[in-house]
Amino acid sequence: NAQVETFEFQAEVRQLLQLVIHSIYSNKDAFLRELVSNASDALDKLRLEAFRDKDLKVDTDDLHIAVDIDAEARTLTVRDNGVGMSREDVVRLIGTIAKSGTAEFLRKMKESQDAAGAQELIGQFGVGFYASFMVADRVTLLTRRAGEDTGTRWESGGEGTYTIEQVDDAPQGTSVTLHLKPADAEEQTADYTSAWKIREIVKRYSDFITWPIRMAKQGGQDGDGGSGTEVETVNSMKALWARPKEETSDAELAEFYKHIAHDWADPLETIRMRAEGTFEYQALLFVPSHAPLDLFMRDGKRGIQLYVKRVFIMDDCESLIPEYLRFVKGVVDAQDLSLNVSRETLQQDRQIQLIRRRLVKKILATVKDLQAKDAEKYAKFWTEFGKAVKEGLVNDPDNREAILEICSFGSTADAEKPTTLREYVERMKDGQQDIYYMTGDSRSVIENSPHLEAFQAKGYEVLVLTDPIDEMWVETVADFDGKPLKSIAKGQVDLDSDSEDDREEKSKDFADLLTWMTGALGDSVKEVRLSSRLTTSPACVVGDTNDLAPNLEKMYRAMGH
Ligand code: ADP
Ligand code: MG
Repeated sequence: NAQVETFEFQAEVRQLLQLVIHSIYSNKDAFLRELVSNASDALDKLRLEAFRDKDLKVDTDDLHIAVDIDAEARTLTVRDNGVGMSREDVVRLIGTIAKSGTAEFLRKMKESQDAAGAQELIGQFGVGFYASFMVADRVTLLTRRAGEDTGTRWESGGEGTYTIEQVDDAPQGTSVTLHLKPADAEEQTADYTSAWKIREIVKRYSDFITWPIRMAKQGGQDGDGGSGTEVETVNSMKALWARPKEETSDAELAEFYKHIAHDWADPLETIRMRAEGTFEYQALLFVPSHAPLDLFMRDGKRGIQLYVKRVFIMDDCESLIPEYLRFVKGVVDAQDLSLNVSRETLQQDRQIQLIRRRLVKKILATVKDLQAKDAEKYAKFWTEFGKAVKEGLVNDPDNREAILEICSFGSTADAEKPTTLREYVERMKDGQQDIYYMTGDSRSVIENSPHLEAFQAKGYEVLVLTDPIDEMWVETVADFDGKPLKSIAKGQVDLDSDSEDDREEKSKDFADLLTWMTGALGDSVKEVRLSSRLTTSPACVVGDTNDLAPNLEKMYRAMGH
């Protein structure tokens, strides 16, 4: 009767599934975390939709997740009565990967030959729903979008195609049934038909999920969904951000992070905040241990979720975090906001603005702390997120000082180790007034530049700035700790210890030459002047103090200015 249609997976999905099926990821238990995480998201979405649209024909009485095991059939089913998916949703969400950076990920994957490298990569990427194919050789998904009448069955062996079929009597929400691969004694894979084992995985990975996760009661009869089966809730459902610090373990926090960030790796750092009184909110924030692949893509998301009194309101809440801290993930739960808030009203909201200011201060202070207490973690942070943080020097003048404090830059002092401005200042030579820097495409370009010679010869340290964003912030940041920042490639940098008399004398000696050169070079230069900055090169081209840096000039030209 109902028509079964066969579709091909998008090429990227096929590649990804190959990786998953051939299981380069050793922690196979993660599949259950992904399914429960998706079910939880679907329940959050339904609650919100039902609240916003009172006419929506949905049942929100008993929102929950259920995990059923059929040991004989060797199937495991994760079910929710959440928002569900339409047929188009299924094709789009399950058949293709919308995640930006996928192509980049697959390219890296191809390059990385060794299994350990590949495993680490997949741990950074996370494969979400497709993780099912680590343990199953066939997956069936039955779903009905809340408010729609007909449902959809999706099925695949993960090899290249999937089928889609219309189902008239599907319950609201989604159920995902895994047909488990034969247990492999050699590989010592866990037996996912064991209720004890599944319960343990749910507790370990998903205890904080705020919806009940139900399983058949242990020791109860082996009912097959019959009315005699007793069920119990296996998770504690306590919102982690609302619990006192002593009552949450690092492992729990890490799992919570993975759920909200859709990441497979542990976070680098956890930040908690709590304000009581007239203006109550709690925040639980995480700094990831690696930059997402879309950190510099235009549609990159920000990572803060907004809750109001434990109710999920929105992902990607841009009003709560500035763009340069877009990599920070976490949850803000505000007590006094209306559940009706929208993105537009949030932008105007004074409470939200205040929370945002506090989050920024706290995040910057946390990184500062890392710098002092855990140099290795700080270095990791900077490698992953430094380029984004430096955008804040341009875009967040209010916090410029605090941002400068946590920045690191390449320097001529040590080619291997970046320096903070504070450290630079401590090394400044007697009588040195300025912080010297040079921008350029790469370290070697800067090191081979004639501009650097005199500074090198005289033993002055010069910051080596090679990120494109460096050209931007040096235009807006005038000084650090009262010491002006000076480009060594611009204007007159006076390093000479020659006396005034000497200099005047030399000018006289060379006056004819300079006049001749100015004429010979004509319109190509503004001025030819005697310099004390060179030691081995005979001449160099410098910009005027107010000129654009050469790289910035190139950038503007490329943009058509
Ligand atoms: P992610 O959760 O990171 O978006 P997944 O691969 O886990 O990636 O899921 C892909 C998408 O499929 C989800 O974003 C969601 O839109 C949809 N989806 C998956 N599981 C469910 C579910 N149980 N109910 C509704 N939608 C789901
Ligand atoms: Mg998911």
